Amino acid sequence: MFERKKIPDISVEEVVSFIKKSYQTDNIGYVSYITENYIIKSVAYEKEYQNAAERFHEIKAVKTVDRVDSKIATFFYTNKIIGNKIGNISSNILINSGGICAVCDSHADTLDHVLPKSKYVQYTITPINLVPLCSRCNRVKKDKVTNQNKIIFHPYFHDYGDMHGLVIDYKIRKNIYFSPSYKLGQNANISFKYNFEEVFKFNEVLSSLAGHEIIKLSRILINKTELSKKQVQEFLKTRKDGLMDGLDPQWKILLYELLIKEFDVFYEYEVLIKRQELK
Ligand SMILES: [Zn+2]
Repeated sequence: MFERKKIPDISVEEVVSFIKKSYQTDNIGYVSYITENYIIKSVAYEKEYQNAAERFHEIKAVKTVDRVDSKIATFFYTNKIIGNKIGNISSNILINSGGICAVCDSHADTLDHVLPKSKYVQYTITPINLVPLCSRCNRVKKDKVTNQNKIIFHPYFHDYGDMHGLVIDYKIRKNIYFSPSYKLGQNANISFKYNFEEVFKFNEVLSSLAGHEIIKLSRILINKTELSKKQVQEFLKTRKDGLMDGLDPQWKILLYELLIKEFDVFYEYEVLIKRQELK
């Protein structure tokens, strides 16, 4: 969790030239909008984006680039970046970044516009503005962007080291399972904190991930009626040890540590009572 993602190795110029070329085979639509001027402007915007460094919040939203407005830009994005079968730009970006969601570490299957395409038409098809997110985190984020004056957290540019000191604290309660909360280290950047709380709704994400994991785990254990309480405890420990190889997200490791620590509560409500209900 919180590893800086690798910047796409494709430029907006390559994307535009791909879009233009693809219209030679399918004659529909908007090819006339891709003028020399549009290409020059798109490249200039990309440069502005790269030069913004950490000051993305100072970039101004633009409604059209040349004659390309949000409807046309979204058409390019949906049909040529996401929907194309030839160039596969979206999967190139996903694979290049490791295919992992920038927020929760799950498998990433969507791209998110850091500066949302509904407001910043100039970055609708700019690869560097597209970051990998899982569909759940993408749904949560929608087209939210941080308030002005607050630094926008950007998975390609920001060092996740600023987030260090993450502690996830689950509380298990009867029939509620848990209520996750997290706190960041003292050195955590205050703007990043805002990003994770307001833009990514990190508590909800953690809660939902942990909820799914507990339901999955509980289903396995309810059916393994041959396992005694002690064996269930061993089962959890083995699973947790299997998570330590560095490939699994931090929230999962922390969750298993907690389930082992508060084993009696977990066992009673998630295994014992549910086994009895099944009888
Ligand atoms: Zn995610």
